[in-house]
Amino acid sequence: MAEAGAPWPGRGAQALGPGGTADPAGLVAAARDGDPRALARLVSLVENGSPRLREIMKLIAPLTGQARIIGLTGAPGVGKSTVTGALVRVYRGEGLRVGVLAVDPTSPFSQALRILDAAGFDVIMIATLGVGQAEVAIASLADSTLVIVAPGMGDSVQAAKAGILEIADIFVVNKSDRPGAQEAVRDLRTMLAMAGYGPGEWKPPIVSATAVRGEGIDDLVGRLQAHGAWLGESGERDRRRLARASEEISAIAVAALRERIGVLPGESQLEDLAGQVAAGKLDPYAAADELIGG
Ligand code: GDP
Repeated sequence: MAEAGAPWPGRGAQALGPGGTADPAGLVAAARDGDPRALARLVSLVENGSPRLREIMKLIAPLTGQARIIGLTGAPGVGKSTVTGALVRVYRGEGLRVGVLAVDPTSPFSQALRILDAAGFDVIMIATLGVGQAEVAIASLADSTLVIVAPGMGDSVQAAKAGILEIADIFVVNKSDRPGAQEAVRDLRTMLAMAGYGPGEWKPPIVSATAVRGEGIDDLVGRLQAHGAWLGESGERDRRRLARASEEISAIAVAALRERIGVLPGESQLEDLAGQVAAGKLDPYAAADELIGG
């Protein structure tokens, strides 16, 4: 997990207690009081799969579900960091606590997200480091997803290809100071018109921005607010949160199962079964049943 404008002072911050054995309840309380070291410690415990992970997750469960989660996706260089920075300034200016997570799809970011949520952040922004499958994963974690494009990079077409058109709650055409911005807006409009939206459905608005100059950011904040209101009224927020929770459960269960298979009577059993399947003596379903004891 990388950090951008992270609310804590760095990874692997030292433990608070002697010998690195800070008590999770104390850490959670301190993090809620705004102690960045406690927050850093909790995030690193979670990211490093600490033996206390379960204890921490249990402790924070009743504290989660308060934060507004905003996802930002788009090709490298379109201005995700710049837009994030501009939004952070606006929200902080309103007195809100804002956390930023930059996501590497291989890291257990949904758990770091829970920590920030439980620590009392009002807004959590999560940005991806690329375009592709990770965007879809992020969309399932965010309440509102911004798809950012910039003119002259063919991103809008690329976005459609990567399937992220479907996950956009708001489009941002950034770098509107550059030639081609109008065309990018027009392309997106055409795509949205073809998609067709029914009454009561959220039709993603298109916001033109020049994030380096802070232009279009107020409009974006307004659109985010409108989307937040729609999420509540339509019941979509609850649906998204249920989907997020069930994805988390399956991911944890699958990981646990993999681990269990790995430590079962031995990998030699897998090797043995593989030999039988390769030789056509056993079918792979029967072999899998045998492996998991089904
Ligand atoms: P990211 O890779 O998507 O996070 O993109 P960054 O936010 O790092 O921006 C990439 C580059 O584009 C940086 O040099 C920014 O200063 C620049 N940039 C961001 N927003 C704008 C904008 O509105 N107009 C112009 N011309 N450049 C911008």
